[in-house]
Amino acid sequence: MLSVGQVVTLLETLAPSRLAEDWDNVGLLVGSPERRLRKMMTCLTLTERTVNEAVTKEVGLVVTHHPLPFHAGRMWTTETLPGRLLWDLVAARICVYSPHTAFDSAERGINQLLAEKLGLQDVAPLVPDTQTPHLGIGRKGSLPAELSLLELAQHVKKSLGIKYARVTGAPNMAVRRVAVGCGAAEELLAVAAQSGCQALVVGEARFHTCIEAEFRRVGLLIVGHYASERFAVEHLATVLQQEFPQVEVWASCEETDPVRWL
Ligand SMILES: [Zn+2]
Repeated sequence: MLSVGQVVTLLETLAPSRLAEDWDNVGLLVGSPERRLRKMMTCLTLTERTVNEAVTKEVGLVVTHHPLPFHAGRMWTTETLPGRLLWDLVAARICVYSPHTAFDSAERGINQLLAEKLGLQDVAPLVPDTQTPHLGIGRKGSLPAELSLLELAQHVKKSLGIKYARVTGAPNMAVRRVAVGCGAAEELLAVAAQSGCQALVVGEARFHTCIEAEFRRVGLLIVGHYASERFAVEHLATVLQQEFPQVEVWASCEETDPVRWL
């Protein structure tokens, strides 16, 4: 029977841990490499919904993009959300693996997939990795033809299957070079501007980053953290299923964006 350790070995090739940011917490975070499994699930985040699904469906390993636990802790009681989730996971003997920023930056990682989803060409990292420069943080590329920022916003919404995006910048500004950063990637604004990108697509950004984007004349498209990343864990489930046909693999069916537009 497939072991967690075998899955970990594959995940380490898909998203090498050395690509992760220093502050991050990646790899096998809960459980044992010797645990045998028949089912595994991917998700963006471990929440009450996704943990309940994993427990109910008797999953052996959850590959969650966002780490759990993330921060160092001295106690994991049920009075906190991470404590509650860890208690339920361990009680059901469910292992947890998180590739997080290693997956953001990997060769077939979230930012690469996001750039391809938007139809960018000549895709390259925004911040190349020192050892492997074709990998790294964020991605940049060119649209096949110049678009206005308004047209780009419509294109991005359609590509990601979302109804709304928050946009800063003049709607008629011309865009050809586009940078992408999944999740809370607003720190990529300066490097995107320096790389000659006229627009940056991110999951989240704060008000002051929007002000800075205006100053730098970079159109900022804020699509939501969930929309910028969830599709990639669905892709990862497909890859894992192909690699391990002897087990059942799926992306959480119960996971939803906690943020709604009303
Ligand atoms: Zn994220």
